[in-house]
Amino acid sequence: MAEIIIFNDCNGPLGFSRYAGPYRIATELRNNGFTVQTIEFFGDMTPDEVSEVIDAQVSEETLWVGFASTLFGKHLTFEEDMKLWLTPPLGGLKQLNQVFQTLFPHSDDEMEEFILQIKMINPKCKIVVGGYKALHKEFRGIDYWVVGQGEGPSVALSRHLKYGDQLKWIESHLGRIITDKMYEFEDFTTCKITWHESDHIRPGEDLQLETARGCIFKCDFCAFNLNGKKFGDFNKNPEILREELIYNYEKFGTVGYMVADDTVNDSMMKVDYLHEVFTSLPFKPRLSCHLRLDIIAANPDMITKLHEMGLTSANFGIETFNRQAGRAIGKGADPEKLKDCLYRLEEAWGDDVFTSANFLVGLPHEDQASLEKTFDWLHRPDVPLHGFSVNRLYLSQLYPAIDSGLHTAEQMRNWGFIKGKRGWQYNNVSKMEMDAEKYDMEYGEDEFYKWKGEFFDVYEADQIVDNFYMDPRNAHKKFSLTMFLNYNRMINLGYTKDQILHMRQDDPDTVIAAIKKRKQIKDEYFAKILTSIQ
Ligand code: SF4
Repeated sequence: MAEIIIFNDCNGPLGFSRYAGPYRIATELRNNGFTVQTIEFFGDMTPDEVSEVIDAQVSEETLWVGFASTLFGKHLTFEEDMKLWLTPPLGGLKQLNQVFQTLFPHSDDEMEEFILQIKMINPKCKIVVGGYKALHKEFRGIDYWVVGQGEGPSVALSRHLKYGDQLKWIESHLGRIITDKMYEFEDFTTCKITWHESDHIRPGEDLQLETARGCIFKCDFCAFNLNGKKFGDFNKNPEILREELIYNYEKFGTVGYMVADDTVNDSMMKVDYLHEVFTSLPFKPRLSCHLRLDIIAANPDMITKLHEMGLTSANFGIETFNRQAGRAIGKGADPEKLKDCLYRLEEAWGDDVFTSANFLVGLPHEDQASLEKTFDWLHRPDVPLHGFSVNRLYLSQLYPAIDSGLHTAEQMRNWGFIKGKRGWQYNNVSKMEMDAEKYDMEYGEDEFYKWKGEFFDVYEADQIVDNFYMDPRNAHKKFSLTMFLNYNRMINLGYTKDQILHMRQDDPDTVIAAIKKRKQIKDEYFAKILTSIQ
């Protein structure tokens, strides 16, 4: 039986794909001599199914059971999922917008039952929560929260539990906290995700890939703790990357990837190195990724290079075409240049590369009239994008803060915490969240996510988003399945690129077929996981 069990899921969007984090951690733990079982589809499993998995997998040998929180969406029954997706104006997109508010897919009572069941089987087994949403909510029964990059803390914790090695942590009212600054991971450039037999990768499955970690930019609304990294830090060694790609191709037939990097094209130098690796493979890869459009506009050579290296679905976080709003959040490129660049991409890439862009409602200095101008452009019949999405701004300052206890301020800072108005918070908080007033934002002290900006509050922002989606103009682009979030997930359901180009996530037949196919894949996986005992 495995010593470590990690539950994960990326439930909510139509289709199926895995999330890189837990598989990277599992690889690191296996490299350090531990046995690990990953459990996919945690969010989709019914409480009874989760209970069956716990019975099958947890044993006296289990050191810890982890929950990879980053992309958990709310658990919905098959019927609830269907109903949600078929409810206009947003369908299932509504749920995706709420993913940051869902720590665990199942209800608190059900989660407590799972924890109790694990402790009944093995009272010594520890419950660990990691991923982006770790520490974002008070929850009884969590022994350790792992924040930041998980490799160092998870190996240190496992060694502590198995061999009694010393372990550092912060004692808090939320439970013990271990951060990546206590156990730094210094081997990113040479690390891989080695997918394991017990992960039950499907033949030809599109997988996740990290070519780099962190982002050299530090946009004011963006809340990842590796934002503002030094240029060139956390970029993977090209030989290692090549080995990883060839291994996946030979072992699983994988050619398609969702590249998990925050910004694949942060420089011409990085695109050159990726181009060299991806064009030297014995197969033609298909890549989906997030790109900065302003950097392509400034480096037009990227257009051909990205195309040649196998780019298939490109997503641009444009956020706004209002220059003043853009400047306030660190994305102040000239909107006309960005639009020109999109037309150039359309001319160069056609339908070979699906392009999509995201926009935000609620940014400082942007009123409804300015948003309407952007929406008018998005509604033009010749808009040079295959898809686009409009979301309201999310601020998450009100996650619980902790006391420093016996630790000094210097220790807390060294361990990755910053001092906010309500106490210490781990440093995956955006500049906007930490200093809302500077951006003319306010929020009620006791309510999550309820901000009020210069021109509207959250409810009005939600209404603007709903109205945008209710407008039938270019609905096929608003509900396109070609976007980064969807493309590989639909490929994994068995659809072809050409089919995906013409599919819509507001079309009942597509939605019903996609939910049924995902359920079938989950049911097959579930049967395997009950009997695949290491
Ligand atoms: S919004 Fe994108 S470019 Fe800006 S800091 Fe976040 S990941 Fe980087």
